Amino acid sequence: MVVKDKLKTLYELQQVDLKLDGLLEERGDLPADVEELEKKISTLKGQIKENEDYLKKAVSRKKEIDKELDEVRKRIDKFTDMRIKVKTNREYDALSKQIDNSKDKLQELHKELENIQAKEAVAGKEVEKLKSEYTDEEQVYSSKKVELEELVSLTHDEEKRYVKEREKFAQKVDRQTLSRYEMIRKATKGKAIVPVVRRNACGGCYNVLPPQRLLDLRQMDKIYSCDHCGRILVPNEIVDETSTDKVG
Ligand SMILES: [Zn+2]
Repeated sequence: MVVKDKLKTLYELQQVDLKLDGLLEERGDLPADVEELEKKISTLKGQIKENEDYLKKAVSRKKEIDKELDEVRKRIDKFTDMRIKVKTNREYDALSKQIDNSKDKLQELHKELENIQAKEAVAGKEVEKLKSEYTDEEQVYSSKKVELEELVSLTHDEEKRYVKEREKFAQKVDRQTLSRYEMIRKATKGKAIVPVVRRNACGGCYNVLPPQRLLDLRQMDKIYSCDHCGRILVPNEIVDETSTDKVG
């Protein structure tokens, strides 16, 4: 493709991209709002699950503790009974030590139980709070999502047409030039290709172009950029031709 055709195609591509930008602009902050709410809701969901998981674990651990408490109490009873019947001091002391150990264990288990119950209370309240927050956010999210979907559906056909049109132009341009175009567009958040405007200035940053650049541009032997802003410069005749095409 000769440079002139390439520039023309790029310029046409940009016209379509600007129309797409316009459609997206109409949606305002809605897409970003919806996305942010989605993240918030998923974080809340995670926090609720974390707390509920803890509550489940707490219930099963409490059951285990109950069992262990039972066993330790039985052990203490058994050792106490045995101690009554022993004949030597050594046996007596050994059993006393066992009983003491078991009593320590008993205390330990009670402490753990209290600890779990305290944490359960906190987690329970947290779940309640998170769930009410979740319900509120969900409501806002749903209404914004519907609003966005309505907006998107309003311009859906138009958008589809532009995307198709865009594809048609983009396919004609080599990948290197296309990625250069897209990079500049991203960086400038708007136009990547600009004409020369009044007083020989760049149509993007309005800095005056050196005479040599203006001569180069007329040659159309390669793609030239503005030294100040990096935007691709397009000779005015291409802009005019493209506009004429549009009318025709
Ligand atoms: Zn410039």
